[in-house]
Amino acid sequence: MAIRKETIAVKATENSRITAITELSSKEFISRAKKFSKQYRVTSDKKFKLKDFATLASEDTGKAGNRFSQQSLQLGVQLIAEMQDKMYAGNNWSLLLIFQAMDAAGKDSAIKHVMSGINPQGCEVTAFKAPSAEELDHDFLWRCSKKIPERGRIGIFNRSYYEEVLVVRVHEEILKAQKLPDKLITESIWDDRLNDIHNYESYLNRNGILVVKIFLHVSKKEQKKRFLERIDKPEKNWKFSAGDLVERKYWKQYMAAYEDMIKKTASDKSPWYVVPADNKSFARMVIASAILTAMDSMKLAYPKISDEQLAELQRLKEELVAEKG
Ligand code: ATP
Ligand code: MG
Repeated sequence: MAIRKETIAVKATENSRITAITELSSKEFISRAKKFSKQYRVTSDKKFKLKDFATLASEDTGKAGNRFSQQSLQLGVQLIAEMQDKMYAGNNWSLLLIFQAMDAAGKDSAIKHVMSGINPQGCEVTAFKAPSAEELDHDFLWRCSKKIPERGRIGIFNRSYYEEVLVVRVHEEILKAQKLPDKLITESIWDDRLNDIHNYESYLNRNGILVVKIFLHVSKKEQKKRFLERIDKPEKNWKFSAGDLVERKYWKQYMAAYEDMIKKTASDKSPWYVVPADNKSFARMVIASAILTAMDSMKLAYPKISDEQLAELQRLKEELVAEKG
C-alpha cells in the first residue's frame, strides 16, 4: 500500500500520458494535484459567480484519458491513505470534508471512491438529513459540532450546517418550523447565518481542524439523466424519491443560494471547491486533489522518537530476540 518516495512504480504500457503520471515522485504528484485543483478552488471572491464555473470538465478526456484519470485517482487515493496514517499517528491536525450538492450529483459515490483506501478507524462519515425534534430544540450548529473530527481523524459531512442557508432558505416554511423567537427572523437572517458559519470555521481552523468544502456542480440536464436512470434501472430504484422532483423545480433558487453561500463563506483557510460533476470520474480526481492539497499543508510526518526511546527500543528488541522458545 505504501507509495515509495522516489518513484511510483506502476507499469504503464498503454498510454504515454499514463507513463508520465505513474512515474512521478509522490512529491511531484502532490504538486501537480495542487495546481490541478486550484482551478476549482474559491477562497475569497466578492465577484464570485457560479456561471463562471463549468459543470462539465472542459478537457475532453476521451477513452485513453479515462484510463489516465483512473490511474491517477488510484495514486491520489493511495497518497491520501498514506497521509492519513501520518495524521493519525501525529494526533494533532484533523480534516473536515464537507460535501454539498443537488440530488444525484454524486456525493455518495465520490465519498466511496475517494476515501476507499483509508483506514476506517481514522475516519467517520455523517449524513445530515432533515433535523429531528431533539435537534430542532438546539441551535443549528449543535448536531454538527458533535461530529467534528477528533485530532488525527478525518470527518466527512454528507450535507452539513450549510443546509441552513440552502434548503431552509429556499423553503422559508422550514425556517418557520425552527422554533426561533419571532423577533430573530429578520431580513438579515441569511447573512447572519453565513457570517456565523464563516466565524465557526475560523474557530475550527484555529483549533487545528482544516475544513475543505466540496460543491459538486452538476447541470440540470445531467440531473435529469441520472433521475431517469434511477427510475429505469431496478438496482437504482431505491435511490429515487418523488421529493427529488419537487426540489428540482426550485433549481434557480438553489443556484442563487449556493452562489451566495460560496461567495460569503469561502476563505483562504476554508476554501470551497466548485467541482464539475457531470463527469463523475473527473469530479473524483478534483476531490482527491483538493484533499491532497489540504493534507499537504499540514506538513505531516510520523512522530520522531528521542535517542533514549530509540535505545530503549533496541534493548527491548534484544530481550525479544534472546527469548527462549
Ligand atoms: P441522495 O443523494 O441519496 O438522495 P441525500 O443527501 O439527498 O442523498 P436524502 O435522505 O435524500 O439524502 O435527503 C436528505 C434531505 O434532508 C435533503 O433534502 C436535505 O435538504 C434535507 N436536510 C438536510 N439538512 C436539513 C436541515 N437542516 N433542514 C431541513 N432539511 C434538511
Ligand atoms: Mg436526496
